[in-house]
Amino acid sequence: MRYITTRGGQSGTGAEAIVQGLGCDGGLFVPESFPPVSLNELADMAKEPYEARAVRILKRFLTDFSEQQIAGMAEVAYARFDEHGVAPLKKLAGGVNVLELYHGPTLAFKDVALTLLPHLLTSSAKVSGETRNVLILVATSGDTGKAALSGFQDVPGTHCAVFYPQGGVSEAQRLQMVTQRGDNTHVIAVKGNFDDAQTGVKRIFSDPQAAAAFSEKGFALSSANSINWGRLAPQIVYYFSAYCDMLAAGDAAPGDAINICVPTGNFGNILAAYYAMRMGLPVGKLVCASNSNNVLTDFIRTGVYDARREFHLTTSPSMDILISSNLERMLFELSGRDAAAVRGWMADLKEKGRYEIGGGAKAALSELMYGAWAAEEDCAAEIARTWNEEKYLIDPHTAVAMKALRDYRAETGDNRPCVVASTASPFKFGRAVSAALGLPTDADDFALCARLSDMTGWAVPRAIAELPGLPVRHKATCAPEDMLSALMKEIG
Ligand SMILES: *Cc1c(COP(=O)(O)O)cnc(C)c1O
Repeated sequence: MRYITTRGGQSGTGAEAIVQGLGCDGGLFVPESFPPVSLNELADMAKEPYEARAVRILKRFLTDFSEQQIAGMAEVAYARFDEHGVAPLKKLAGGVNVLELYHGPTLAFKDVALTLLPHLLTSSAKVSGETRNVLILVATSGDTGKAALSGFQDVPGTHCAVFYPQGGVSEAQRLQMVTQRGDNTHVIAVKGNFDDAQTGVKRIFSDPQAAAAFSEKGFALSSANSINWGRLAPQIVYYFSAYCDMLAAGDAAPGDAINICVPTGNFGNILAAYYAMRMGLPVGKLVCASNSNNVLTDFIRTGVYDARREFHLTTSPSMDILISSNLERMLFELSGRDAAAVRGWMADLKEKGRYEIGGGAKAALSELMYGAWAAEEDCAAEIARTWNEEKYLIDPHTAVAMKALRDYRAETGDNRPCVVASTASPFKFGRAVSAALGLPTDADDFALCARLSDMTGWAVPRAIAELPGLPVRHKATCAPEDMLSALMKEIG
């Protein structure tokens, strides 16, 4: 399988795409084609464990590696998930199937890709002849940072540096990052929001002087953000896996279309669902759920992407994003893989903060997707409703998706079974969840989690329970314009 970029300026192998992260032309790597998976194969996969399903999907994309290599990497990565497994499906009333993606070491769906990425990246570096150490740069809205730090901790030949928006993440998310162990991990708080951090990281990547300076220190830069193909490929797997679980449970017959609803920020997770669809997964509609940073909802409804709007800090911080990087890959497909059109839209976004798609691309988007968003009170109401009606606790990101699905069903009457991506453990957001349930919030986040545990009978995950006792190891802060110098200081 070869890879090309969305801006038409580069092609390469999967290993090259993974090591490099971003294309030389500023575009994102996409596979040259979408390898099909037949309904017969889906029926076979329904009898297999998650790791085997992963190998079937990943081997089609990662042709630089043998099937045994991929199986070995998947086995090690997914052994880090808890006893529930990598992506269990929880059936609620009304054909709502919650895909619990948060049973990994850092309690968010990012773990599904970021437990695997260090293996993919170090193997890819070998295959593509890279001899320098790899310095992974990450801008995080809360969950990617910890998942990347945890994945890369003490992996030989790598360093991992994370930038997060100061004050823009939950207390548990912050503590998870600043207590990170490992001699090769670096965490810096940026005095700005996520978009500032992401823009700063992109600036470092596109700065030839920075590249030369790091190279002199023996480092090649790479990214663990969801623009990296090595992040996206593993996410395609769990949509297939969800469908297989529905087949196995008799909740779908081979070929029955399902809907998929995804709480969306940088557009990586929902893009993976779209890629699964392109490979043959029977999908009716993709429901794109946003919080009050609802730039994507407007885009899907109007064809106008306008990032010039007020930025809201919400209780679903991992979706507090106004510039969704992975949307560029979607635009590439919507335009019939027209790199010139993509370059034009991205130039407009950079210069004017907005762009507009028209004609075929706009029609293709509204055929494929439905956009909806949840205000803070809708999100809280959804957490309360799901607990009261189903005795099932969800986090605020998942609640945003549940509300979007409710809106979609009410507007269209399309009640076919839907897979809802549940992207984080409710215990990562103990304060917001407690407030939504009308419980007192006059204690620290850990006491609140203990109360939620008493109420639900669900144990507080160890990754949360241990946090108050861990020493803070990372205290650096910087202004958005000083991210490069702060990083240089960290690396030494
Ligand atoms: C990252 C994240 C999202 C958004 O996912 P994207 O792939 O960026 O769209 C949603 N929920 C949680 C909990 C996350 O960590």
